[in-house]
Amino acid sequence: MNQSSSKGRKKFNPRQKDKSISINERISTFKEVPLGFTPEQAILEAERCLQCSRPRCVDGCPVMVPIKDFISLVKEGKFIEASLKIKEKNALPAVCGRVCPQEDQCEKACVLGKVAEPVAIGKLERFVADYEAVQGTKEEIKPPERLPYKVAVIGSGPAGLTCAAELAKSGVEVYIYEALHEPGGVLTYGIPEFRLPKNIVKREIDYIISLGVKILTNQAVGANISLNEIIRNYDAVFIGVGAGLPRMLNIEGENLNGVYTANEYLTRINLMKAYLFPEYDTPIKRGSEIVVIGGGNVALDAARTALRTGAKKVTLAYRRTESEMPARKEEIEHAKEEGIVFEFLVSPIRFIGKNNTLRAVEFQVMELSEPDESGRRKPVPVIGKTKLINADIAITAIGTVANPLITKNFKKLKTNSRGYIEVDDNMMTSLKGVFAGGDIVTGAATVILAMGAGKKAAQSILAYLKNK
Ligand SMILES: Cc1cc2nc3c(=O)[nH]c(=O)nc-3n(C[C@H](O)[C@H](O)[C@H](O)COP(=O)(O)OP(=O)(O)OC[C@H]3O[C@@H](n4cnc5c(N)ncnc54)[C@H](O)[C@@H]3O)c2cc1C
Ligand code: SF4
Repeated sequence: MNQSSSKGRKKFNPRQKDKSISINERISTFKEVPLGFTPEQAILEAERCLQCSRPRCVDGCPVMVPIKDFISLVKEGKFIEASLKIKEKNALPAVCGRVCPQEDQCEKACVLGKVAEPVAIGKLERFVADYEAVQGTKEEIKPPERLPYKVAVIGSGPAGLTCAAELAKSGVEVYIYEALHEPGGVLTYGIPEFRLPKNIVKREIDYIISLGVKILTNQAVGANISLNEIIRNYDAVFIGVGAGLPRMLNIEGENLNGVYTANEYLTRINLMKAYLFPEYDTPIKRGSEIVVIGGGNVALDAARTALRTGAKKVTLAYRRTESEMPARKEEIEHAKEEGIVFEFLVSPIRFIGKNNTLRAVEFQVMELSEPDESGRRKPVPVIGKTKLINADIAITAIGTVANPLITKNFKKLKTNSRGYIEVDDNMMTSLKGVFAGGDIVTGAATVILAMGAGKKAAQSILAYLKNK
């Protein structure tokens, strides 16, 4: 319980911190790093919550999880009930508890955060979801009254899964078309095992399947099945195909052996289990000196993954400084603890090879300009100053763009100048009855924003179907 001091000023108990596995175990395995709360820690943390009459935390959550109510249940030790309370609004609680940037959302808005450290909402969410999975759920999934509609969802990332789950809960028959052989989108092929174990993603997808959603894998819409065919066979369509095409640097040597995009590198390791080669049949080049280019979550995931493949030295090269890095603070701290070397204010100008194989990366040294009108300091080259970093593998993680597979052959589906699908306030595209959401609309964003879009689209689809 939070306490009052003798002078009458309220003193708040410190935020609970979970333990992590040892550094040695981290860098030699793909085991999940944070261990999560114990039941005692969960109750202590829940007791810090002020149970605000106006819980700002909920305003900070794109899917409106009833945070105050689930925390109140945790406080009473009703962990499974707490998990079910979250699932009323969020079908992927163990995923969100692990990868959502809570520090920029619910925890940023938490009222306690004004006077002390905010409540650890994400860690509590993870705890109750895992507790329910281990102890066995009490949830009885009652099939809803069937509505006479059939909806196709294209893409099984967080946007598609959330849209499908919401529709299925309302009694709609839903089929997801997924290009890859496994569902989950970035949750499955992008975010590494040590941050988001794949058995947890599978567990939450199985829950969505138990709601009645059918997932058809190896179905690349625009390649082996056309959008037209799907539109003809369904009452409405949701497109949630993400923005998974890697952006290229377009500099000399980018085609050398040993230069990967983070997208390819992480897909080989996470989806195709290349780190278990030859037990799994996808190989990955193992290097001793690896350079990763970028400063976001994807770059950090690639760098920490590279370290776990046995590299002696992994350098993360970023063109600005640490304070401008878009990656989550927690991930930067973990990377530092694990021994990733950070090189700031450098921008790659060429990959240098011998016998068509990478040997080094040459960087332009940068500095930050004076702040412009928006207050931003841009990286600008320091003329004549370059730097060479030896590398047998380089991984580029400089962002992604929209994949044109669906849109290029379907001109009636309006996109903006960068290839992202345009939608109206109800998430409907230029095609009647075809909705879209997630990264394919906003550009690369976050899991919870994609889920929020999927949820909003499901509500619009229901309204559209009922008015049809
Ligand atoms: C390495 C990495 C780490 C990240 N870390 C975080 C993090 O820690 N926290 C966070 O909040 N966000 C993170 N993100 C961002 C987040 O994962 C994305 O914003 C989110 O997954 C977008 O969801 P989505 O459903 O729109 O698309 P996606 O997750 O990209 O899913 C789209 C799905 O559609 C499928 N698809 C594509 N084209 C077709 C087609 N033509 N036919 C059928 N299926 C198709 C794809 O195979 C994929 O399964 C990370 C992203 C990456 C790449
Ligand atoms: S804003 Fe913070 S303190 Fe208030 S109910 Fe939400 S989690 Fe609890």
